[in-house]
Amino acid sequence: MTPLPAAGSGATTARAEAAYLGLALGDALGATVEFMTPREIVHHFGVHREIVGGGWLKLRPGQVTDDTSMSLALGEAILANGGSVVPLACAEAFDAWMRRKPVDIGNTVRRNLVAFRQTGVPVAPSSDHDAGNGAAMRVLPVALATLGQSPAAVSAAVQAQAHVTHNNAVSDAVCQFLTLAVQDLLRGCSLAETLSHHLGSLLAVHPELSFRDRPRRENPSGWVVETLQAVLQGLDDGDGFEDCLVDVVNRGGDADTTGAIAGMLAGALHGPQAIPRRWLKALDPGVASQCREQARALLQMAAR
Ligand code: MN
Ligand code: MN
Repeated sequence: MTPLPAAGSGATTARAEAAYLGLALGDALGATVEFMTPREIVHHFGVHREIVGGGWLKLRPGQVTDDTSMSLALGEAILANGGSVVPLACAEAFDAWMRRKPVDIGNTVRRNLVAFRQTGVPVAPSSDHDAGNGAAMRVLPVALATLGQSPAAVSAAVQAQAHVTHNNAVSDAVCQFLTLAVQDLLRGCSLAETLSHHLGSLLAVHPELSFRDRPRRENPSGWVVETLQAVLQGLDDGDGFEDCLVDVVNRGGDADTTGAIAGMLAGALHGPQAIPRRWLKALDPGVASQCREQARALLQMAAR
């Protein structure tokens, strides 16, 4: 086996930028068809494959939603703390983000940030019901900041950010899986290697997350189980970055979030050359440069 490149290497940095841009591109692409059924998408678009804005949020073309903007807020908090994922700093960053009146916000995120304002405790109460995808959609800055750290340190950081709003075992398992998977892809592992490293332990504890022996997951809700199934089916079947994102968002449902998570993984897997130029041109330029700069800065901290 050839040694994998270190956190600060050029190839890893390029893949990290592609992962962050992929997150934003999947969010911007999917938001147009969020909460539509596949049949409604076919009726309106045939196949939806252009970043055109609109949707129920009436977005500008290239505008992103909470999936990207919460990730960027989290990444800023990690950078401001020297690369550490500090729960109070994360909660304050999310609270400040909520005060900026984001274009969309999940119910669990809102409820637990309102509770944080009242109590000052940056950890949501544990709940069997809080298995939405709101913590899983923003794992990327943690994955970048902890690249190369011990499994225990990565786990602790994953939980620290997730539990600010989602304190739930299934959400935790998915956050952990996504973080470890994107880290492997950033190091240059193939998709098959990455899944073989992490899928077995995930499915042993949460067999409901299996996706290969299931029918095509359409209309994925915000439940993190359906999110992961749609994303992994799209990644498994997709032939490259564009094909994967188009497959995932045309399933409808919570399409901006499945698009964002699939875009993160597909960007890390396929790298910057695979990103369609027309999508990059359409993406909000301020968001694009924040994604690139934050990816580099977080990796540099991880390498120290
Ligand atoms: Mn969103
Ligand atoms: Mn969504």
